Amino acid sequence: MNIHEYQAKELFDKFAVPSPQGKVAGTPEEAEAAAKAIGSDTLVIKAQVHAGGRGKGAFKNGFQGGVHLIKSTAAARDIAAKMLGETLVTKQTGEDGKLVSKVMVADAVDISHEYYLAILLDRETSRPVIVASTEGGMDIEEVAEKTPEKIIREFINPLIGIQPFEIRKITAGLGFGKEEGKQFGKLLRNLYRLFIECDCSMVEINPLVTTPDGQVLALDAKFGFDDNALYRHPEIVAYRDTDEEDPREVAASEYDLNYIGLDGNIACLVNGAGLAMATMDIIKHHGGDPANFLDVGGSVTREGAIEAFRIILSDDKVKGVLVNIFGGIAKCDTIAEALIAAAKEVGFQV
Ligand code: GDP
Ligand code: MG
Repeated sequence: MNIHEYQAKELFDKFAVPSPQGKVAGTPEEAEAAAKAIGSDTLVIKAQVHAGGRGKGAFKNGFQGGVHLIKSTAAARDIAAKMLGETLVTKQTGEDGKLVSKVMVADAVDISHEYYLAILLDRETSRPVIVASTEGGMDIEEVAEKTPEKIIREFINPLIGIQPFEIRKITAGLGFGKEEGKQFGKLLRNLYRLFIECDCSMVEINPLVTTPDGQVLALDAKFGFDDNALYRHPEIVAYRDTDEEDPREVAASEYDLNYIGLDGNIACLVNGAGLAMATMDIIKHHGGDPANFLDVGGSVTREGAIEAFRIILSDDKVKGVLVNIFGGIAKCDTIAEALIAAAKEVGFQV
């Protein structure tokens, strides 16, 4: 699960990760009021969508950029009016883009330098890894490709947590002076605590900045949470914005179905993630293209299976459905009944 930047800021505040003051707004008037409440001479207004690259993105209405520096409260209103209700396309949204229904107005800061800082889960070592770079603000994938030596990686032992020597290593690697280094160290320790305590799968700050008056601040935030641990974080579940998710995946999650929409035209309904992967391979092997991944699980109910058919058939591209059920873990009669019921309801041929 992902969250918006303005929500991430609330988590930053809770865990003492310094970031500029910001307020969320759903209308141009609210944006103007937010700007007035912040009361700063320079402000930044940012479209809130679950995707990065907003600064360099463009709206379908032709308006350029999802991040703007502004100098008046009236500008907050005017720019919010150009963003709200419009679709923003960035490198990370895909060509369909994302509808902007909220903007965040924040106190703008003067930037001395932009850094990159992230904590991710490394599957190979089964450890959290801290990724940092002096080349922040831009596309980190490009930095990794062209100048990999500029990326620092530090693997943390999850049983003992982040150690002072590891913090010192990263601080030195980024070339911080004494005072900024102290602040950065504190920020990193707090960010690691946030990552662990909130069961994150990733936290990315791009850019983390230093200011001319010596502050170290998180200017942007992207979070991912481990869905399997959400049950113990109702306050994070409350941040969920289903408008940002694929509606088919939202419907599937209501019935505990693991559905992921793809681009092909042969849908598949399978039980077990491994069998579902193998089924997609079979379709590919024979020259087809799967329309989805769908694992209905071992304890699927009749209603769940009918919903599964409804979801896969709601995709216009689907021309056929391959049902591949292993009788050992799901009741085949449940699936067969659901198939007949769905065929009657949706009107397809079995
Ligand atoms: P992204 O494009 O979605 O990653 O959005 P960001 O929040 O990272 O903003 C994009 C860029 O706008 C940043 O890399 C900064 O260069 C710039 N920016 C964002 N906030 C501020 C600010 O408060 N002051 C200044 N001077 N620039 C900012
Ligand atoms: Mg950014």
